[in-house]
Amino acid sequence: MRRTSVLFSFFLLATIPSTAQTGPDPSANIKAHMAYLTGDELKGREAGSPGYEAAANYVARQMKALGLKPMGANGGYFQPVPLVAARAMSEGKLSLKDVSGKETPLVFGTDYISSGDEVFPKLRINAPLVFVGYGLVAPEKSRDDYAGLDVKGKIVVALAGAPKFLQTEERAYYRGGRAKLKAALDRGAIGYLSVNTLTGEKLYPFANRVRHYKSWGMSWRRKDGTAFAQVRLPIIAGISVAGAQKLFGAKTKDILDRAETAQGAIKGFDLGLSLTVATDSETKTLESRNIVGLLPGSDPKLKNEYIVLSAHLDHLGITPPVKGDKSGDTINNGALDNAAGVATTLEVARLFAGKAPRRSMIFLVNTAEEKGMIGAEYFARNPPVPASQIVGDVNLDMPILTYDFTDVVAFGADRSSIGPAVKRAAAKMNIKLSPDPMPDEGVFTRSDHYRFVEQGIPAVFLMTGFANGGEKAFTHFMKTNYHKPSDDLKQKINYSVGAKFAKLNYEITKELADADAAPQWNNGDFFGMRFGRK
Ligand SMILES: [Zn+2]
Repeated sequence: MRRTSVLFSFFLLATIPSTAQTGPDPSANIKAHMAYLTGDELKGREAGSPGYEAAANYVARQMKALGLKPMGANGGYFQPVPLVAARAMSEGKLSLKDVSGKETPLVFGTDYISSGDEVFPKLRINAPLVFVGYGLVAPEKSRDDYAGLDVKGKIVVALAGAPKFLQTEERAYYRGGRAKLKAALDRGAIGYLSVNTLTGEKLYPFANRVRHYKSWGMSWRRKDGTAFAQVRLPIIAGISVAGAQKLFGAKTKDILDRAETAQGAIKGFDLGLSLTVATDSETKTLESRNIVGLLPGSDPKLKNEYIVLSAHLDHLGITPPVKGDKSGDTINNGALDNAAGVATTLEVARLFAGKAPRRSMIFLVNTAEEKGMIGAEYFARNPPVPASQIVGDVNLDMPILTYDFTDVVAFGADRSSIGPAVKRAAAKMNIKLSPDPMPDEGVFTRSDHYRFVEQGIPAVFLMTGFANGGEKAFTHFMKTNYHKPSDDLKQKINYSVGAKFAKLNYEITKELADADAAPQWNNGDFFGMRFGRK
């Protein structure tokens, strides 16, 4: 960090008391929380780091000041989350061999990147490669990309993402790794290569991903000390568009072009190649914590049901600077991602203070979202109250507060009775509901609410919409600041918009917590059918 910024953060430290006093002005509260949480001295709040711990202590102090009851271990606010972390020890070695015995090495950083793997820290595989298109298995759409292919004992090569014809949340389900990995593992595959599509390359250029390759990946630690993995199949590497050329040869253009069509139906085939893999990860165990506060419900019966309001506190910590950034800034302050969401959570808790709704509210500020929604998953699987009594989740992640939003996208809402509640709350504030304007991003499975959905709990996640300058603000943020050190307070943050976002989420959670009936999945809903409680 260059000197001026260090001075700036010193100034913040000196002027912001560590137990920022909140008052009746919502904008000022959000500003104070964000100022503390984005301070350089917290070094980007990476899960398991001292900076994260300082941030966690701050949140616990705020919860106490707001009168929330501690819901963590030993009468405190903290739920310990044991972690296993892994990162690549080196660039690894991947080498192709064709039927004639000719070897072609894949080049790290150009053709592929591999990242740390806490479940398979020393990976040695030599196996044939089978291309499976998108690797989509969706019986309800009569789609099986594995039809006629034998992948037993082989390495699956699949396009990243899922075809565009799928409804946005269902597309996110198939795009998210777990469904695709499971399809491969169930058919006997022993490894997985993910090939970037042209859409994927546009959204998340391969070069940006290379910058993060030495970052620690994480999972939560099971009682036996091993890392939890929902699907135990090694993801060997991500393959760039350039790397695809070495796998598909003359067919590359046709495959990548057809991947962009609505159906993205590409018949897989045996690549006639084998791959030798040697990758090594260093691993370590870490301890982190979720921060959990309770507002007991006012209804003697309904108070035994809980609505969760969740937001992740962790961010990316320290990374190499962005190429060409003259400041050389290495601290990922995570202002919008997700100091903004944590500040919103605390402000919603303040709005409820002294006026408890009928159901109980759990305020969950959680760890390791950036590592794969690990803290939320740990909480959803190990809740401090009976799991069956958690009936809904409202999640806050990365609201873009640089413009005055007039619409929102309510991910997941229309899948359950949460939908009508969101509609009523938004109407009260004259805010419109919009369809997902960027379905290629797969937002629905990319933040903590999805871990509740996987446990059968209806959830909603609001994104500020594209109207009233939103499209420009969003596109700018994703291109310039997202997961970069520049996601800091130098952005033009409008704190009154933060207050408006908090009010809207307050209205939604209040609707859910006061309703006669707990949130219910709609009949026959895609996620309700897969995960819903029987
Ligand atoms: Zn993030």
